[in-house]
Amino acid sequence: MSTARTVIFEAPGGPEVMKLVQRPVGDPGPGEVRIRHHACGLNFIDIYQRSGVYPLPLPHALGMEGAGIVEAVGEGVTHLAAGDRVAYAAAPPGAYCDARVMKAAQVCRLPDSIDFRTGAAMMLQGLTVEYLFNRTVPLKAGDTVLFHAAAGGVGLIACQWARALGIRLIGTAGTDEKCALAREYGAAEVINYEREDFVARVRDLTDGRGVDAVMDSIGKATFEGSLDCLRPVGMMISFGNASGKVPPFDLGILGAKGCLQLTRPTLFMHIAQQEKCQSMAAHLFEMVESGKVKIRIGQEFALEDVAEAHRQMEARTTTGSSVLTV
Ligand code: NDP
Repeated sequence: MSTARTVIFEAPGGPEVMKLVQRPVGDPGPGEVRIRHHACGLNFIDIYQRSGVYPLPLPHALGMEGAGIVEAVGEGVTHLAAGDRVAYAAAPPGAYCDARVMKAAQVCRLPDSIDFRTGAAMMLQGLTVEYLFNRTVPLKAGDTVLFHAAAGGVGLIACQWARALGIRLIGTAGTDEKCALAREYGAAEVINYEREDFVARVRDLTDGRGVDAVMDSIGKATFEGSLDCLRPVGMMISFGNASGKVPPFDLGILGAKGCLQLTRPTLFMHIAQQEKCQSMAAHLFEMVESGKVKIRIGQEFALEDVAEAHRQMEARTTTGSSVLTV
């Protein structure tokens, strides 16, 4: 049996709780596959898990996406074969490693035109944008969406996806440089929410009407303001908590603010079924291969530097997607 370097943590905490250990990697069982990684993706959800916001049984490995080559497939796996180039986003966490055995259902064959680093960077964030814009609220060309953290990993993909659909995306970001980047990637309007009142600016930009939907991954710091940006019966999509969890609130607020709708989706529910996951991935690959969506890898780290990667993500100094190379 071979071994692989794997990042684990034994107690929730800061980036320092992660450590690199050697672990055995066995053969795949029924429905499983063994993958040798070339790169792994870094995502904000990894920070929620490491810090205990999303608790995991401990000790636990981290990382929810990767790309590499299939080394072996278990019984009953028909969509993959040894030697295939693949990429995936999948639970449970365990992708920060050289090689692993995992369920095959969420593992997708990577088109030859997409390199491993891009494959590792794009799956979790790209599939998220796929469901946000196509499976969450009916959106059509001409609609207006407010998207927070528009220069981040999910954000830059969202800017481009919205542009491709003819949706007017108003992006927020924490610095002027990030705002410029979001605009370059397709945001129709940008707001630096660290120095501007984003609610007032959104009202200005929509002639007082409000936006059709808000896609809010910031959580606590923006939730109430985001509700104030919506038109009557508009849809609040709360899909993350980078600033902390949204505190419990009175549902009556939705009525008082204009009969608003609210949803709290997760990618892992959308991709739980193999067929749907593979079809969402095919859609994402098509968007990338057509050039409508470009994956910007803003940061790259070696596996052993994962703590520094987490520090930078938490310090809000990253833009676009981040990858670990193995
Ligand atoms: P990002 O690259 O977007 O990084 C997070 C960004 O959030 C930061 O760069 C920063 O941008 C902004 N931010 C605002 N306040 C804070 C804060 N207090 N601490 C840290 N960051 C802050 O990350 P990802 O692309 O990986 O993910 C984006 C969001 O989407 C995350 O919240 C993630 O959990 C969520 N997500 C949810 C999914 C789901 O299905 N529900 C799936 C995938 C992602 P700025 O400086 O511009 O404000």
